Amino acid sequence: MMEDARSIPLGTEIKGDVCIIGGGAAGITVAMELANRGRKVILLSGGSRRERAEDRDLYRGSTLPISAQPAHEPLDENRRRVWGGTTSVWGGRCVPLDEIDFSARSHVPFSGWPLTFDELRPYLVRANRVCEAGAFAYSAAEALPDRPPEMIAGFDGLDLVTNRIERWSPPTRFGRRYEAMLKAAPTVRVLMGAHALHIQLDQDGGRRVAHIRAATRPGHTFEVKASTYVLACGGLENPRLLLASNDVDGNGIGNQHGNVGRYYMSHLVGVLGEVTLEVPTSAFTFDFERDAASVYCRRRFWVTPEAQARLGIGNAIAFLLRPSIGDPGHRNAVYSATHLAKTYVDAFRRRSLRAGIDWLRQQEEPLREHWRVLARGAPAAAPRLARLARRRWLSQRRLPIVLGSADTRRFALFFQTEHAPNPDSRVALGSTRDAFGMPRLQVNIAFGDLDIETVVRFHTLLADRLVQTDIGRLHWDPLEARHRLRDQLDNFNSHGHHLGTTRMATRPEDGVVDRNGRVHNVANLYVAGASVFPTGGHANPTLTLVALAIRLADHLAGEM
Ligand SMILES: Cc1cc2nc3c(=O)[nH]c(=O)nc-3n(C[C@H](O)[C@H](O)[C@H](O)COP(=O)(O)OP(=O)(O)OC[C@H]3O[C@@H](n4cnc5c(N)ncnc54)[C@H](O)[C@@H]3O)c2cc1C
Repeated sequence: MMEDARSIPLGTEIKGDVCIIGGGAAGITVAMELANRGRKVILLSGGSRRERAEDRDLYRGSTLPISAQPAHEPLDENRRRVWGGTTSVWGGRCVPLDEIDFSARSHVPFSGWPLTFDELRPYLVRANRVCEAGAFAYSAAEALPDRPPEMIAGFDGLDLVTNRIERWSPPTRFGRRYEAMLKAAPTVRVLMGAHALHIQLDQDGGRRVAHIRAATRPGHTFEVKASTYVLACGGLENPRLLLASNDVDGNGIGNQHGNVGRYYMSHLVGVLGEVTLEVPTSAFTFDFERDAASVYCRRRFWVTPEAQARLGIGNAIAFLLRPSIGDPGHRNAVYSATHLAKTYVDAFRRRSLRAGIDWLRQQEEPLREHWRVLARGAPAAAPRLARLARRRWLSQRRLPIVLGSADTRRFALFFQTEHAPNPDSRVALGSTRDAFGMPRLQVNIAFGDLDIETVVRFHTLLADRLVQTDIGRLHWDPLEARHRLRDQLDNFNSHGHHLGTTRMATRPEDGVVDRNGRVHNVANLYVAGASVFPTGGHANPTLTLVALAIRLADHLAGEM
């Protein structure tokens, strides 16, 4: 049942078996899995079907460095306080963590999960279905049996391989996609527009949650009581609620050892060089391929676990991308059309109409030039543009990226690498408050030498291998790359990957939740989402967090 929470009278007490806080990928997945087993679920969505300015404002916080650490994008930019959460804008790239990500690595401090890949595997298979990403097949040999196993013939060796793929969800908008299912579930109540303000522990030792205080607008509060509670508000909001609920324990919930909000991780992503390939286009795969179920798949370079250990670096991948399309000097109508579409969509996604218009004004001249390129090239490129527009914007399963042609054989090398866990990288409560009186967040993300070395040594390895195999060249300057990387980290963009802030660990001294996602020392409070990841590998987080959410639902159903 879906219900507008504004109709709940002030002071009401609502009861269920499980109260889920958050209506994003994690919260909706737990709710669906429990609904299938007939559990009485109350879900507080935190937002409505459309994101309202006042809801978005609840996500604002401070990103000013509190020490000599890098800054971070505004906190309301890469997440959505809305039904469906951030999946309302996600790209849909699905890729599981690798086996090595779960093990304790001597060269990556604080690494190691209290779970193995094999334990998570059955849930990843199910998560693939929830994300509509097809079969759980992430090697080219399995997913694309009629295609060459390598991305570039003759490239793969002991240190680097190109025989792995990533898969793309349509992308699934969890709110829209699963609303009918939740509406039809007789034991589920989704309270649309209900925000959790406080997790109330019992006064008798604080070992159990007694209730959640929630509201739809300031002053209009009600309570939700359940046997079990699941916090699923995203990687930044989960620690915020735990820290702000500090009436029984002044440190907040689960924070006896000061771990809540620490170990905040994301990924390092970007372009530091270009690859030219000296082999014919028939010898490599650049574009997306589709598997038997028409799911878009893409190849990538991956550094093997053996090479990671030998070089003492974190996990890393890279893929070939079209050259930069922002500079209209390419005179290519398809690229200009893609750039214009991307720019206007990005402007629309800014914090406000005003911010979007200001952002567009800053780029007035290049945008005008892109329009000119498009006008000149449109007649010749029209059939291709129409085909791309249909695949990219009008298909149910949309083309993830417009890549352009492989014929130039010159590509940007886009990397995505691990951000190693670091207790000094953290989110904490700031000194200002939101409209409900909740303390806003203060984020202080930190990077170490290992993070930089992972990127640089990975690029060096790639450059050497391209030369060794006579396949091509990586055009980059290692010294300049280090400077550019430092600059990039000083103006960091998380791309919505918010990991590690309530990390999973066997001992309460080392983390916030146990291997089942339960907050240490609180009997009936669980956390779902990427905040529980002890490490984040190179992989985009959603598939794994959905797998963990399914595993959590199975665990709760078993416990009940
Ligand atoms: C532009 C963009 C592209 C992305 N692309 C990818 C991609 O290709 N692949 C990938 O794996 N990931 C991607 N991501 C990240 C992905 O969107 C997140 O990993 C995922 O949405 C996290 O799911 P979640 O349920 O933990 O949090 P969210 O989806 O953010 O959901 C949190 C929910 O909690 C609710 N909430 C918050 N606070 C409260 C409160 N106090 N009370 C009640 N409810 C509350 C919110 O309203 C929301 O419904 C992308 C992110 C962005 C921004």
